[in-house]
This record gives sequence, structure tokens and C-alpha cells, in this order.
Amino acid sequence: MPGRAPSGSSSERALILPKAMTIRVDSVEYKCWHEVGHATVCLHLGGDVDFIELLDGDARGHARARCVVTSEIERSVACGGFAAEFYLLNNGYAERGRDDERDISRIVFHNATSDREDFWGRKLGSDEVFAEAEDREFMNHAIGSHGFGGLVPIFNQYFSEMQVLVRELCEARRVEGRRVKELLRLGNPRSACG
Ligand SMILES: [Zn+2]
Repeated sequence: MPGRAPSGSSSERALILPKAMTIRVDSVEYKCWHEVGHATVCLHLGGDVDFIELLDGDARGHARARCVVTSEIERSVACGGFAAEFYLLNNGYAERGRDDERDISRIVFHNATSDREDFWGRKLGSDEVFAEAEDREFMNHAIGSHGFGGLVPIFNQYFSEMQVLVRELCEARRVEGRRVKELLRLGNPRSACG
């Protein structure tokens, strides 16, 4: 009889970010959370993820998640990074540095500039900005309004898995889709073969 009890496995799932480990806004770890936000939403909604990576040699410290989306989930996936940042800030997991006096909502919207372009399906000209109503709709889609929970319930569901993935992404700087799915316990790990 294979009588090994699965002891200890539950403690791994119960990871809670200690208060002392607050994530600095716009740090590498913070950027990882943004990308993991896109990937988690995408997989949860039935899309696929090829990889997530931090781009070396990019002075702005950019990162990207290559998500495979359908038209039905495209807009939600575009909101995923913004929603993840909001989630961290709203729960006190992330905060600005002591000498960072920028407006927090500006930072979060700025970090989602190309995401908002994807959401609305149009590129901004150099002097152009999105209308307030457009940004409000983007934000409502991400974090909810009037009883609609936005993407927040997805992050509630996968938060501890996301933490593990963020840690691995920070260290390895690139995580393949197969591993992303393994860590998030989402999606079909063999879908790359199809
Ligand atoms: Zn993004």
C-alpha cells in the first residue's frame, strides 16, 4: 500500500507576504507582478502564455508576457497588469519609495500605456492621451465597479501561486509558458505540442 501522507504540502500554498517585504513601486519585482498579472488573467480565461521575460539592456527595465488571446478575452488580458498593480497597492503589498512623490494613479496608468492601446485597439500619437471616460472604462474593467468585481477575484484565487511565479521570474528573468502554467496550476501544460 502506498501509505505516504502528503504532509507539509499545504504550508507551501499558504504563503503570505510578510508586511516587512513591501514591494517598491516600479522595482523589478513590481514589474514582474505586472506581467504575471497579464499571464494569470490570460490563463484563467482560457488563453495561453508563451513566456514571460525581463528585457535585459532596456534602460527602462521593461518586461513582457507574451499572451495568446482570443478576441473575447483580449481586453481583460490587456487590463491584467494594471489590475495586478492596483491589487498590490490596494492590499498594502506595494508602496512608493520614501522620496517618490509621483501621483500613484498616474504611475499605474502610465505603466499601462501600451496596455490601454491594446484595450482600445488604437495607438496614441505623441501628444495624445486617452480621454478620462476611456481610462475610467479601462479601470472599471480591471478592478470592477457597481458590483462587478473586475479581475480582483482572479488574483484572490491565485495569489500564492503568483507569488511563487514572481519570485522565479525575478531570479531567472525568463519563465517559459509551460513552467508558468505549472506554477499557476492553470492551463494545459502540453498545449505547446498542439
Ligand atoms: Zn502591461
